[in-house]
Amino acid sequence: MSEPPTAQLLINFNALLDNPVFAGGFGLASLGAVLAFARRGAMSTAAMIRRRMLVNVEISRQDPAYPWVLAWLSEPRPQTSFLAKRLTRINKLSVTTTTSTTPNGPTRASFFLQPGYGRHIIKYKHAYIAVNREKQATAKTNTGEPHEVVELTTLYAHRHIFEDVFTEARALALQANEGKTVVYSVRNFDWVPLGDPRRKRPLGSVILDEGVKESIVNDAKDFLARRQWYVDRGIPYRRGYLLYGPPGSGKSSFIQALAGELDFSVAMINLSEIGVTDDKLAFLLTKLPERTIVLLEDADSAFVNRRRRDADGYGGGTVTFSGLLNALDGLSAGEERIAFLTTNHIELLDPALIRPGRVDMMVRIGEATKYQAAQMWDKFYGDVDLDGKNRERFLAKLEGLELFSDAKDGKPAPRTSTAAIQGLFLFNKNDMEGAISMAEGLIPPKLEG
Ligand code: ADP
Repeated sequence: MSEPPTAQLLINFNALLDNPVFAGGFGLASLGAVLAFARRGAMSTAAMIRRRMLVNVEISRQDPAYPWVLAWLSEPRPQTSFLAKRLTRINKLSVTTTTSTTPNGPTRASFFLQPGYGRHIIKYKHAYIAVNREKQATAKTNTGEPHEVVELTTLYAHRHIFEDVFTEARALALQANEGKTVVYSVRNFDWVPLGDPRRKRPLGSVILDEGVKESIVNDAKDFLARRQWYVDRGIPYRRGYLLYGPPGSGKSSFIQALAGELDFSVAMINLSEIGVTDDKLAFLLTKLPERTIVLLEDADSAFVNRRRRDADGYGGGTVTFSGLLNALDGLSAGEERIAFLTTNHIELLDPALIRPGRVDMMVRIGEATKYQAAQMWDKFYGDVDLDGKNRERFLAKLEGLELFSDAKDGKPAPRTSTAAIQGLFLFNKNDMEGAISMAEGLIPPKLEG
């Protein structure tokens, strides 16, 4: 009788084990398998421990908290314990340089040090936090730049520390900007601070015609105090202002001062710039930083573009009329939104723009009036012209030059701008007589003679 197949196999296997070469190889192979198994086990145990015992938060570059957290991380944090001294050091820093050009020419640069890419450990309160800042080459932002994240990891037991980290980072950011106005401009598809935050411009330093400043400031404050009113009525919580008038009348200066007064930032975008398309405008408005006045300069260009498009079909690369209207209509993401449009050419605008909800208040900021000239005089020379006699001489001279007159007999009046008056006073700092004798210089060049 022949052996059953299993018994046959066993016999053959035993014979194989008796072979010393095979037995050695088999032993090694099993050892390898056991080690691989153990390694895999250890890895998954480590992963499990990581999952169970550690928590991490990831902050992407797109998030407003990203710069705050980086700034917070680069704050000096003196350590007292031996271990913390050895472990927690950010050896690799990276620098971000911002430059700003002052009106007189020189460029100022400021440097901001932040943790470089890679891993760092910091100790904050009683917790150690591992920091990993990395660029993710595979994921690109819509500007084509690699996506960037900072990941903070700590023990599960210390997870509540993150709340403190974010609160402190935000407070630090606010503190750095206290008394300052951040002005954002557009870079690619992002709002980036334009140079350092500027010292708040006092409202008193902008001189508009009697009552004009107050009416806009009160309106904006009233708007900000009425959130619930808008919510109850389901009305988008936004307010639009249009300031129009000749250049150099203080429109931009006023908006900046108002932002300071309301504790807002300013995000400005010039609509006449090539490359500001409808899509880009709409996209940028969806991601405005919080508490920001959006300033859309040169609003007339959208209308000029429409005419050009109608005339010769060209309209590429710039914002269109409907693009501007859509952007204004979509301008409310639950948050309060204040938009300012400025133009030097009101006559080019379309009535569709000036509809409540798009533009709620329209104010002409015009050529200098007698009231403004007097106020500006007092600002510059009030401390030396105590009885105001020289001010009256100056005003009389401007009147003589018909600089406050309206157009007469179809002839335009030679009005002047507040910027020009400021220029005259700056040129004659401490010299009232000089300012009076040079007042002819205020006549706009076109109309001279
Ligand atoms: P606009 O935006 O109307 O063209 P700006 O606000 O840019 O005018 O003013 C240009 C310059 O003139 C600024 O330096 C500003 O300080 C000064 N200026 C113009 N108008 C005024 C004003 N009404 N009050 C104070 N400064 C003014």
